[in-house]
Amino acid sequence: MSGTVKRGYVRPLDMKHGRVDLTHGSGGRAMVQLIAELFARHLGNEYLGQGNDGAVLPAPTFDGVPGQLVMSTDCHVVTPLFFAGGDIGCLSVHGTINDVAVMGARPLYLAAGFILEEGFPLADLERIVISMANAAREAGVPVVTGDTKVVEQGKGDGVYITTTGVGVLPPGRAIGGAGAQPGDAILVSGSLGDHGVAIMSQRENLSFDAPIKSDTAALNGMIADMLATAADIHVMRDPTRGGLATTLNEIAGQSGVGMLLREKDIPIKPVVNAACEFLGLDPLYVANEGKLICICPAAAAPELLAAMRAHPLGRDAVQIGEVITDEHHFVQLLTAFGGKRIVDWLTGDQLPRIC
Ligand code: MG
Repeated sequence: MSGTVKRGYVRPLDMKHGRVDLTHGSGGRAMVQLIAELFARHLGNEYLGQGNDGAVLPAPTFDGVPGQLVMSTDCHVVTPLFFAGGDIGCLSVHGTINDVAVMGARPLYLAAGFILEEGFPLADLERIVISMANAAREAGVPVVTGDTKVVEQGKGDGVYITTTGVGVLPPGRAIGGAGAQPGDAILVSGSLGDHGVAIMSQRENLSFDAPIKSDTAALNGMIADMLATAADIHVMRDPTRGGLATTLNEIAGQSGVGMLLREKDIPIKPVVNAACEFLGLDPLYVANEGKLICICPAAAAPELLAAMRAHPLGRDAVQIGEVITDEHHFVQLLTAFGGKRIVDWLTGDQLPRIC
């Protein structure tokens, strides 16, 4: 582009027909232009607008009290980039916000790193960035710094996005995977398997009578409502890759407990069940991107379930089982037929590039 423009004048990016080229990652004028006309235009805020090598942020406080920082990062390589219910842009915002929020922290800021493949349409990139901007705005968590690199055609797959989130944890709050105790209730915020099945059915070109949409969503609002009840929460986690089964096995191991689930109480949409049967998947192992697992004392369960159900993202919240004493740290399932089976760790990679 530099050869075709006069000094001091840069033709605006052709957002409709233009494509990412290697100069967009070169550190020169083309990169500055891509950042200004695409990233800053949509994601802009007072911190991103500082224009330095790093964003200067106020010291984190939680309702006026100095808190601890929580930081989490996540790489996103989902394929396809656009899917029913979302795209890599909003997914990369939701996923990292959720990882910070399930720690009991209030997510404050995001950083975003983009690896773009030469030749990727600018129109698609803009769609992705707008989706990120909307997700960040809705969740109230701005993108305050970022980076873009371009790799040669054939050396990437369109777009990869890494997001990092920072949040603030109020003094005295400790929510983590080691907190589950025998007798605790296991709650989930809604139906399981939607994200993974939405992605897989799109990849396999399957269509169902009722379209299956990803559940990708930011959980920080619902979690804030749950924390506001002051009910005791021992563990929160978002059952993403590996699904409910893998997440509960992780927690059982961390806490040194067993778990007993009731199959009849685990919410799975009939269409998701049908798709799983067709695809040979077990919905308990399929990724979710907008669901929460909460483990709490049995006495706290009614109040937390009420808070979840009062939020649009937790309308179908339900208790699915209990934490039990088990030296083997097994997760077991009481089946609909009255039998019992062990829900083991996910072996191998059942669903690559799901998030
Ligand atoms: Mg997580």
